[in-house]
Amino acid sequence: MKALQYRTIGSAPELVTLPDPEPGPGQVLLKVTAAGACHSDIAVMTWPAEALPFPLPVVLGHEGVGTVAALGDGVTGVSEGESVAVYGPWGCGTCIKCAEGKENYCLRAAEDHIYPPGLGAPGAMAEYLLVDDARHLVPLDGLDPVAAVPLTDAGLTPYHAIKHALPKLVPGSTAVVIGAGGLGHLAIQLLRALSPARVVALDTSEEKLELARKVGAHETLVSGPDAARQIRDLTNGVGAQAVFDFVGIDATAATAAQAAAIEGEISLVGIGGGALPVGFGRTAYEVTVTAPYWGSRSELIEVLDLARSGVLSVHTEQFPLDEAPLAYERLHAGQINGRAVVVPGA
Ligand code: NAD
Ligand code: ZN
Ligand code: ZN
Repeated sequence: MKALQYRTIGSAPELVTLPDPEPGPGQVLLKVTAAGACHSDIAVMTWPAEALPFPLPVVLGHEGVGTVAALGDGVTGVSEGESVAVYGPWGCGTCIKCAEGKENYCLRAAEDHIYPPGLGAPGAMAEYLLVDDARHLVPLDGLDPVAAVPLTDAGLTPYHAIKHALPKLVPGSTAVVIGAGGLGHLAIQLLRALSPARVVALDTSEEKLELARKVGAHETLVSGPDAARQIRDLTNGVGAQAVFDFVGIDATAATAAQAAAIEGEISLVGIGGGALPVGFGRTAYEVTVTAPYWGSRSELIEVLDLARSGVLSVHTEQFPLDEAPLAYERLHAGQINGRAVVVPGA
């Protein structure tokens, strides 16, 4: 099969031909119908060897959707031909976090070398994807594969962060989204669907701000040193009850710190390497700061249910598998509006 591999530290991903995988006992083989390109892949491909938590080469793609092509011995609960989304943050399945469905916070994944597809295990940027267990699959039930695939990360990750902050997003509150890209453009819509908050989106690109307005942001601001003051102005000096930073560099973390209201919540989702000093006087009183990772299995089911209700408009730019390297080049250059989705069958 054809696949897109990240092969050597610092190099661009390459198209390769690999043997077609076959499902072992308990495994499910998917024929991939869509795979999303996440900015985390770009980050991972800049890390030095000592920072990379998994061996190379690796087939990229931690957002995957496919049809069930074959079942390994003993697999129940899914049938051949079914269209399914893959829950990516695989865990051991038995520790207390996994038992809660929070496999993203599995206590044993690191020591047992259990990796998400595309981030250690072979990923979805290929014609076929092996899934280690049927519990990682959620039926699409009528959702379009291309529109659904970003929901497995670009939808699930903000959903998790937003759900955590929802008690603070009461009527009259303000939520700020920093970075209106793959995750951010879905975060805006999730906030609109789940809360009565006024949504303010920040980005450095006017094109992304236009998308932000189109998908429901009430206000858009150019990201920069003056943005926090503008957020305070928009909120009569109070600030934002929740700030979701989908960039995560020092500059955006500083904006988040300056913009958060008393008892507000800051979610640093972006992995840009930035940090936010927490201490008396550093932020407004009692601001909560979290750095979440992906979401739980039940939250993925909820996100797909929400999509089926018709309130999410997922913006995608499609690429055939042969052009997957171009998808990453364009993502790296900030030229993707919404999510880049690779369609192996195209
Ligand atoms: P993306 O490239 O699609 O979007 C990033 C957006 O941020 C773009 O619109 C870009 O114009 C904008 N931007 C860049 N610099 C900015 C700045 N200084 N101020 C405001 N906006 C700025 O990326 P994505 O795939 O949506 O990922 C967003 C971030 O979230 C990445 O850092 C990614 O690695 C991270 N991520 C984290 C998790 C997690 O579990 N914590 C999961 C998925 C992605
Ligand atoms: Zn991701
Ligand atoms: Zn576990």
